Amino acid sequence: MIDTHSHMFSTEYEDIDLALTRCKENGINKIILVGFSHDTNINAQKDSLKYDIFYPTAGMHPDEAGPDYLDKYNELVDFVSKNKVYAIGECGLDYHWDTTYKEEQKELLKLQCELAVKLDLPIIIHMRDATLDTYNILKEYKGKLRGVMHCYSGSLEMAYEFIKLGFYISLGGPVTFKNSKEPKEVAKNIPLDRLLIETDSPYLAPTPFRGKRNESSFVKYTIEEIARLREMDVKELDKITEENTMRLFNLVK
Ligand SMILES: [Zn+2]
Repeated sequence: MIDTHSHMFSTEYEDIDLALTRCKENGINKIILVGFSHDTNINAQKDSLKYDIFYPTAGMHPDEAGPDYLDKYNELVDFVSKNKVYAIGECGLDYHWDTTYKEEQKELLKLQCELAVKLDLPIIIHMRDATLDTYNILKEYKGKLRGVMHCYSGSLEMAYEFIKLGFYISLGGPVTFKNSKEPKEVAKNIPLDRLLIETDSPYLAPTPFRGKRNESSFVKYTIEEIARLREMDVKELDKITEENTMRLFNLVK
């Protein structure tokens, strides 16, 4: 089993060794360790050198977008030229709390799309209250860019549109919440060869840990719920989502 989106940096988890032991006990054999700022990109590299289970990425989250977005981007370009990363991101658009730097967010996303194309790497997209703008930017790179819509919470209809652009749909803890209609709809219906699973730890812990600190071993609750919704065997679903992950991120066995 693979957690395709985790921020389980050792700087945030004092009990990292125990948390990783719980992962192994639950059959999690790989974790994509996602950076989202200069400091967390560095953390992802450091931890991946220390623990085999981690596969690091580097990106600039929309929260990093401000008047100095170009400096942030250049910092990222320099970083990925010196470090092995498996994806660009997370990056994207987030209009939920603050839209002051909407234009800078868009520019920073476009630059990272171009970087992913140039380096032939997948991109990890964060999208919150910005579906149409995100879609319109990604559409510009159709046929050249591949990636994942992380912790996807949009409609089934839009999920199909992102799939048409060459994207995978990743579902996290919210699919296990009783009242989350749309993620359950998406989980039930999207093509299996485009489905990924994740935790987004430390955020968005699945039921029965909702509201608590999340960790990669909890990804099993998410896959169990998706298997239940699709009336599938968990092992069979695990095999498929694992193959999808290996293909998208070019991981070697
Ligand atoms: Zn994240």
